[in-house]
Amino acid sequence: MSIHPEKIKVIGFDADDTLWINEPYYRESEEQFCRLLKKYSSEENTMRHLLEIEIGNLELYGYGTKAFMLSMMETAVSVSAGKVTAAEIAQIIELGKAQINRKNDLLPGVIEVLTALSPHFRLIVATKGDLLDQERKLSNSGIARFFHHIEIMSHKKEENYRKLLSHLDIPAGRFLMIGNSLKSDVLPVVNLGGYAIHVPYHITWFHEEVHPDQVPRSRFLSVSSLAGVLPALGIPSSAQNEDHHQPD
Ligand SMILES: [Mg+2]
Repeated sequence: MSIHPEKIKVIGFDADDTLWINEPYYRESEEQFCRLLKKYSSEENTMRHLLEIEIGNLELYGYGTKAFMLSMMETAVSVSAGKVTAAEIAQIIELGKAQINRKNDLLPGVIEVLTALSPHFRLIVATKGDLLDQERKLSNSGIARFFHHIEIMSHKKEENYRKLLSHLDIPAGRFLMIGNSLKSDVLPVVNLGGYAIHVPYHITWFHEEVHPDQVPRSRFLSVSSLAGVLPALGIPSSAQNEDHHQPD
């Protein structure tokens, strides 16, 4: 496919597992949670229940760690057949709070890429998740200064992107989305007539997975790491200046 960089005005970045590490922290919490409930249920069984309950709660709670904590508690009650103790529930709450308080490390190349792109395009963040959670992560990240706008979306479906584009006052053909999820960051944007660059991350929540064949190839490309976005857009790397642009 060909992205014509001169047509692109706004570049949207997904945040979790595109700008900073996120999914591995969930995996670690899930493993601790399943171990905690071992006397009631095998780790595999607890994990399966947790995923089912999380998916079932998405419409009600949306994404983010608080939703995850509620789903862990519901799973604990379910797999223990109501026998889970208050002390164990307290441990689950602590597990969630520890995850919320964890600083999300930036992925390699983020500062370099944002520094190189920001003189040429309007950069925004378009992310799912809990509002407070995502605002905290962004403020801890030290990269908020690169972005003209932060959009925290309840879902990343076509209708949500349509609203975002109308807020930005640009046609879809002038928007490029960069993210790790084919389902959330690529497919809906491409379907609207925009462009996307997929930067896969080694762990994807199974609910975010779609087969690449489901995405029309003409409006998106995949690069193996975020730094690959620069040659794809014909922008020289700013690596030599990176020392002057460290996060605050
Ligand atoms: Mg993501």
